[in-house]
Amino acid sequence: MVKSLLRPFRGCISALGVRPQIWGLTPMLAPVLLILLLSAVSAQAETPVLQPIAAGVYMHQGQLGDYAPENHGDLSNIGVVVGQRCVAVIDTGGSITVGLAVRNAIRAITPLPVCAVIFTHMHLDHVFGARAFVGDAPEFIANTKMPRALLMRAAKYRTTLDLLGDEGARSDIVIPTRLVEKTDRLDLGGRILTLRTWPTAHTDNDLTVYDEVSGTLFLGDLAFREHTPVLDGNLKGWLSALTVLHTESAREVVPGHGPLASSIASAIVPEERYLQNLRTDITSAIHAGKNLTDTVAELSAQPAGEWKLFDLFHPRNVTAGYAELEWNE
Ligand SMILES: [Zn+2]
Repeated sequence: MVKSLLRPFRGCISALGVRPQIWGLTPMLAPVLLILLLSAVSAQAETPVLQPIAAGVYMHQGQLGDYAPENHGDLSNIGVVVGQRCVAVIDTGGSITVGLAVRNAIRAITPLPVCAVIFTHMHLDHVFGARAFVGDAPEFIANTKMPRALLMRAAKYRTTLDLLGDEGARSDIVIPTRLVEKTDRLDLGGRILTLRTWPTAHTDNDLTVYDEVSGTLFLGDLAFREHTPVLDGNLKGWLSALTVLHTESAREVVPGHGPLASSIASAIVPEERYLQNLRTDITSAIHAGKNLTDTVAELSAQPAGEWKLFDLFHPRNVTAGYAELEWNE
């Protein structure tokens, strides 16, 4: 969607069923009018950067893919919550381009200042748009463990950002200024956000955000929908976190990747099934005496089922899960 903001419209005239002679215009004028028509069609088809999901709550849905110039690192979901005093942004996208697009969209919604940028965890597709908000001087808020995890991966992340060329070079990490150890509350003016950290699950620095006014829960990458889950923390811990989430409720649930969900169960059940199967399959392989290489080769051949980007992330999940479970099973 950021892509569509930046890329010239590539529509095909014949696809619209339009021919110059229909307009009864001279050959000189017809192309000009067609360009205007195409621009109007393009504008109508444009998906807004921020979609309203509840009163004063907005979501940007990132694309399904891996870092590439065509997607500008627009790979993760972003939330925006507008209070009476100020605005909170939850995750910032994977590049300065995404961050600026979201900031511009906020400016079109409200003149209120951005007072908080909240990171759900340290992964690059969630943090590299943060620089777009530095001029607003918000608090940058994250799990206490997030800065260390981010700095440990900074060099690797910069290599990935290089894939985006100049916009990658203009993107940068922003070190959080306010850290959450367990829970915290953020008052946006008549609107309280509850911030909550989790034992190691998707990563060791997961943080979720709950907007009490609308009942919207931002789960970050504790919830993947359509996008294959990515394990960079602890498989057992992630499944435990999902068990806890099953006991709670929310009216809207924003996952870290994939579409909005109308309940916690619909947001996490498919992912939970994937993680349970991963755990079962790896445990069986370990009990059968299979080594890591053979296990990865065997389980990588499994069908993707409903999951996108399966070939990219499933083998990595098997590797991470095996490393965790071989000492416990
Ligand atoms: Zn992540």
